[in-house]
Amino acid sequence: MRTVRVIGGGLAGTEAAWQVAQWGVPVVLQEMRPLRQSPAHHSQELAELVCSNSFGAKASDRASGLLHEELRRLGSVVIGKADEHHVPAGGALAVDRGVFSRDLTQTLAQHPLIELERQEVQRIPEDEIVVLATGPLTSEALADDLQRFTGSQYMSFFDAASPIVVGESINTEIAFRASRYDKGDADYFNCPMTQEQYLAFWQTLCEAEQAEVKDFERETAKFFEGCLPIEEMAKRGEDTMRYGPLKPVGLRDPRSPERFYAVVQLRQEDKAGQLWNMVGFQTNLRWGEQKRVFRLIPGLEEAEFVRMGVMHRNTFINSPELLQPTLQFHQRPTLLAAGQLIGTEGYTAAAAGGWLAGTNAARVALGLEPVSPPNETMMGSLIGFVTSASPKHFQPMPPNFGIIPSLDIRIRNKRDRYGKYRDRALESLTTWQKQLQPAMVS
Ligand SMILES: Cc1cc2nc3c(=O)[nH]c(=O)nc-3n(C[C@H](O)[C@H](O)[C@H](O)COP(=O)(O)OP(=O)(O)OC[C@H]3O[C@@H](n4cnc5c(N)ncnc54)[C@H](O)[C@@H]3O)c2cc1C
Repeated sequence: MRTVRVIGGGLAGTEAAWQVAQWGVPVVLQEMRPLRQSPAHHSQELAELVCSNSFGAKASDRASGLLHEELRRLGSVVIGKADEHHVPAGGALAVDRGVFSRDLTQTLAQHPLIELERQEVQRIPEDEIVVLATGPLTSEALADDLQRFTGSQYMSFFDAASPIVVGESINTEIAFRASRYDKGDADYFNCPMTQEQYLAFWQTLCEAEQAEVKDFERETAKFFEGCLPIEEMAKRGEDTMRYGPLKPVGLRDPRSPERFYAVVQLRQEDKAGQLWNMVGFQTNLRWGEQKRVFRLIPGLEEAEFVRMGVMHRNTFINSPELLQPTLQFHQRPTLLAAGQLIGTEGYTAAAAGGWLAGTNAARVALGLEPVSPPNETMMGSLIGFVTSASPKHFQPMPPNFGIIPSLDIRIRNKRDRYGKYRDRALESLTTWQKQLQPAMVS
């Protein structure tokens, strides 16, 4: 039987290797630490949590909690161990990070079908079934080779992303649909500001608290003068933003003849028009500060954010161009990828991609058809998003309810709506699971 090779022993790679072994297929898991450390990892354990020890909200009517539940039902080793080593953290699934990673390392090392190799892989192996899961800090040599394989235009090394807002939470009594100079099809949401509103917003933005920037991120950021954080732009002068992303020229509210002092634009992010990206709002502000300051924008008072703005080093491929919904590369179906490298964001999302890539790598080895989870599940929505988003503006995405297909009925109460999403997702997962051949646990 063909062996599968998984490169990178983070959240995605650990889950992928485990799932391959559950199908009775031998797997080699290659991890470069401790021979070579990444700028953010500190230990030699598999599945190290590089920052927070939280996997997000536990409740199954929250996006992360629903993904936990789906993974639990699918036999995820990462979520299984997170449950086992959880620590009190209010509504969040948080873990004792040392015990969690050590236990996963031992569990995988003891599995008869898993061989753990400590090695930096510098080239994508040819003629093998391979899962790439080397994460946002993929080593330079492998990133170079991946760039050669995919074509340089399909790789990003820095994540400068603006916040994304749920369309339903935009106040359309204030925000209006239009394109600058009426070009296109009224494609944008526009949030207009009077002089007084603009000055209050500018002042608050200049004083808002920034997140700590790591040294390796500061260095990468130097190359990106072109996409300045919005707060830096604000600090350059009272009018700088009005001559940049907040310029009001060419924008008219079809409902009124009023002229505006400044306008914030939001661009559609997904095909269904459920998610809207704040144009030019890449930022280093702390997440709480982003919510506080950006809700001062008229029309966004009640904005629900599915992803906050970020600026950090992040190697990721243009998955909508390169990957199938099975996480196989179009150009080479024996090569699969998972984790932050494919543009899912967060620990749980990395484990979810690892589950799918590992399952499909094993299925390829066994001559079975690869699968992809239904869109109604959080896992299916997330994988669907990263493999079908607009390639031009592709940015990593965490699990959220904005990417899941709408319900047939409109439910105004958010908690009730999310509860319905959960019920539909779990029902759909159960049906799908029955169609998969049972894993051949060794
Ligand atoms: C600084 C930072 C902080 C973050 N904080 C959070 C957070 O608090 N919460 C959250 O949910 N998400 C966070 N993320 C986002 C993301 O969820 C995590 O990075 C997550 O660990 C991604 O999982 P992964 O498996 O894709 O990558 P990783 O967990 O990074 O695993 C990749 C593994 O591949 C190895 N590797 C790299 N190159 C090679 C090579 N050439 N050969 C062999 N091995 C290699 C690395 O050593 C690493 O062990 C953060 C990301 C960064 C960069």
